[in-house]
Amino acid sequence: MARNNKGRTKRAAPPAESTAITAETAGAQNAASTGLSYVVPTEFVELPSQGRYYPEGHALSGQEVVEIRHMTAKDEDILTSRSLLKKGLAIDRLIQNLLVDKTIDVNSLLVGDRNAILIQTRIHAYGPDYITRSICPSCGDVSESTFNLLEVENDTGEWADMNVDGPTEQGTFIVALPKTGLPVEVRLMNGHDEKHALKIIENRKKNKLAETSVTSQMKQYIVSIDGHTNRSEINKFVDNMPTLDAQYLRVAYNALVPNVDMALPFRCAECETESRLEVPFTADFFWPNR
Ligand SMILES: [Zn+2]
Repeated sequence: MARNNKGRTKRAAPPAESTAITAETAGAQNAASTGLSYVVPTEFVELPSQGRYYPEGHALSGQEVVEIRHMTAKDEDILTSRSLLKKGLAIDRLIQNLLVDKTIDVNSLLVGDRNAILIQTRIHAYGPDYITRSICPSCGDVSESTFNLLEVENDTGEWADMNVDGPTEQGTFIVALPKTGLPVEVRLMNGHDEKHALKIIENRKKNKLAETSVTSQMKQYIVSIDGHTNRSEINKFVDNMPTLDAQYLRVAYNALVPNVDMALPFRCAECETESRLEVPFTADFFWPNR
């Protein structure tokens, strides 16, 4: 899967916009002549989706950026939950609070756009250095490495070399499977979908059933197979899909989904190999050194 530069944009807002925001904020502060006044600055985050796949009527439909305000001490209080499950909910609440346009439901954000907001917020709150556990792909050495979040770029989605048609009028894509030859219609996942898929995975874990994160996600993002939309038919097909088709669908889906590109430069302190590592969002992301 080729991800050329055409599909990439710098995630950070252009300087012109940043300057405008600063000026506006300064003006508001000067205007207050009495008392201690501080206006929390806002900024625009570039959306990997470029607003292309939101339904008509959604506040982000056709919008390339979303305005968020910076984190405050009060927001940080939201992040004090200890359990990981609660941490997921806490991050949702945090993003909801930071969105300037209150008509936007955090769960309606496309997964990649949500990630872009998270990264920008993290940079402003704790700086761009993200220290987390990493494994060298060359020698296997496990160490704490520092990644620079300013190097994260937006990947707006690139599927030119795959058997993918779209987007359709509904914002879906059609992937032609190589083995069965069936056309599979897929859609981009938002917060609601991701939560639903996660819940199924967790329930299976709780009931000691085999992990099925890949197929659970597929069942969530497949809209139809060869025109069939019946859920139980789709689920049955996914469970019995030839490996070749399953792999192709996964690669195609990852290619077309607009997201942040978390493959960041990495240099192993042990063997000095330089490479790029897919950096995971772990608890270190919003809870550095606590
Ligand atoms: Zn190494």
